[in-house]
Amino acid sequence: MGQLEGKTAVVTGGNTGIGLATAKRFAAEGAHVFITGRRETELEKAVAAIGNATAVSGDVSVAADVDRLYKRVREHGQGLDVLFANAGINHIATLDELTEDIHDAVFDINVKGTFLTVQKALPLLNDGASVILTASTAAEGGAAGMSAYGASKAAVRAYARAWADELGSRGVRVNVISPGPVNTPMWDAAFGDRAREMMEAVAAGLPPKRVADPDEIAAAVTFLASSDSSFVYGANLYVDGGMNQI
Ligand code: NAD
Repeated sequence: MGQLEGKTAVVTGGNTGIGLATAKRFAAEGAHVFITGRRETELEKAVAAIGNATAVSGDVSVAADVDRLYKRVREHGQGLDVLFANAGINHIATLDELTEDIHDAVFDINVKGTFLTVQKALPLLNDGASVILTASTAAEGGAAGMSAYGASKAAVRAYARAWADELGSRGVRVNVISPGPVNTPMWDAAFGDRAREMMEAVAAGLPPKRVADPDEIAAAVTFLASSDSSFVYGANLYVDGGMNQI
């Protein structure tokens, strides 16, 4: 028996990177996984790679799209046991480069998107459900060019603390993971041609001298999703190669 046998899970941003690796793990552990993302072709490829999955395209920052996702989950008829609110974007901009549009986009997706994803799931959450949010070490890292991103991830951590308290008494656990650097397409989107060089520079400063593989984050998320973490409420789990310690 897998750790998530017969469970229903949602993974936002499940078509690439950390979300895809996690959706694959959830399915391998026996869950049916609904994945979301904005690009239909990537979603269909991801469904083929995951196996026991359904794709629902949409933007997490648009309420009607999130409603459409949960309509599909409701039709599946088993409620929702695991919600991984993971979709997010990074945009590198120093304070003098940061435009209102960039700031709004980062907060719309990372903060409002997380809020809509969790709030609209409430009627579907089964007793004992696990909700996991994705923050980042950038929430306290203070790296140049990451102020809007870091602030948005600090907001996600604040959500997790409050929601763990609010939902815990209803039998729903809420926790948050804070990955350090992970080898995903987000680096290409943020740094373009300089992505590899930036990743190597960050890796050099970490005890393991490398960035994480997405599957190493997926393993931690699967722990939080499963009953192995049944007494873990409101935790912020760093999966960061020691970045937070140094
Ligand atoms: P990624 O770019 O591979 O994945 C991001 C996912 O979010 C994609 O599937 C994308 O389709 C989805 N997404 C983006 N905007 C969306 C929107 N408006 N609506 C729906 N889906 C949307 O990058 P990743 O590294 O796998 O990122 C996953 C999460 O991990 C993000 O929240 C990111 O901030 C966080 N994170 C990443 C790192 C890292 O180093 N890669 C470190 C810490 C935290």
